[in-house]
Amino acid sequence: MFSFDVTQKTKQDVFYHDAHFDALIVGGGPAGLNAALYLIRKGKHVGVITKEIGGQLHNTSEVDNYLGFKHILGKDLSDQFLTHANHLDIPILHDVSVENIEKIHQTFKLKVSNGIILHSKTLLYATGGSPRKLDVKGEMTFANKGVSYCTTCDAPFFKDKHVIVAGGGNSAAEAVIDLVPWASKITVVHRSQWRADAVLLKKLEDIPNLNIHLETQILEVLGDTSMNGLKVLNKSNNETFEIDAQGLFIEIGTIPNVSLIKDLVTLNDRDEVIVNDMQETSCEGLYAAGDVTNQPFKQIIIATAEGAKAALAMNQYLNK
Ligand SMILES: Cc1cc2nc3c(=O)[nH]c(=O)nc-3n(C[C@H](O)[C@H](O)[C@H](O)COP(=O)(O)OP(=O)(O)OC[C@H]3O[C@@H](n4cnc5c(N)ncnc54)[C@H](O)[C@@H]3O)c2cc1C
Repeated sequence: MFSFDVTQKTKQDVFYHDAHFDALIVGGGPAGLNAALYLIRKGKHVGVITKEIGGQLHNTSEVDNYLGFKHILGKDLSDQFLTHANHLDIPILHDVSVENIEKIHQTFKLKVSNGIILHSKTLLYATGGSPRKLDVKGEMTFANKGVSYCTTCDAPFFKDKHVIVAGGGNSAAEAVIDLVPWASKITVVHRSQWRADAVLLKKLEDIPNLNIHLETQILEVLGDTSMNGLKVLNKSNNETFEIDAQGLFIEIGTIPNVSLIKDLVTLNDRDEVIVNDMQETSCEGLYAAGDVTNQPFKQIIIATAEGAKAALAMNQYLNK
């Protein structure tokens, strides 16, 4: 996985000298960083706590749908966000996790993995999502032994190999494109029809050695010391067959990272945090933004916009 530009220092000392904030933000992806920008410009005492700066941008090779950037690498967009945050002196505590969140009277108390305890009048939960698993036999046995959840990170390990991409959305189509310079052959296996954008599907048309199995379900990841194939079911004729391959890239979406607040807020049946049009959750003072919420379109520009909305709503709440 790429790391953010380490030459860029972030402001961290404030977390150790003043543990009481107007607004704390859990998650330093597009949603969290944009919220911080809006809050600091409102003069609020704000801090971001995050495992990594940029979030899923680091799993994204190329972004060409963020207004103002015709074409930019995910890592470079993340660095642009960090440069902007640093320009505004936004305090960011990174490479740590928030481990616990409690609401005590009107204040949120956060326990961070480095041992510090922080308090805040409001909280923005912008923890995004983690890769969704296939949940089939052999998947975990061969994780990192052929099975990968990050094409951007792992594609170069599959030079001249036959790899399978599981999924039929934009991430799967992008994964195929990312694998072209490395793999000798690519096979897509998806349990229904393509859901990817037409512009991406057009790019797939010219790829040599690309096989596509739609309406095909993965039943098992096969292997011995590392993965060597898949057992799949053709749903059209109900026949099972095996595909020999050395790699499997699972690109079937994300699951929201809600564990820290699942007892504080209302979730929907997909375990996403339900927010209203002010990004408010069912818990007063607690807001959510980005991929962790019930908004249906998981995109960078939407996450940043939700971060901005949350920040403005939090500012209004704090000014009451
Ligand atoms: C392969 C791939 C390609 C994509 N391509 C595009 C594209 O081309 N265009 C587009 O618009 N979108 C794209 N997306 C989607 C886009 O990346 C997301 O919609 C966006 O990153 C969501 O931002 P977010 O801030 O909500 O969450 P995230 O980016 O997931 O960031 C959440 C952050 O919270 C941190 N975090 C989580 N839990 C904790 C904790 N307990 N303590 C501290 N920190 C925590 C995480 O480490 C992470 O840094 C792509 C996604 C993937 C996976």
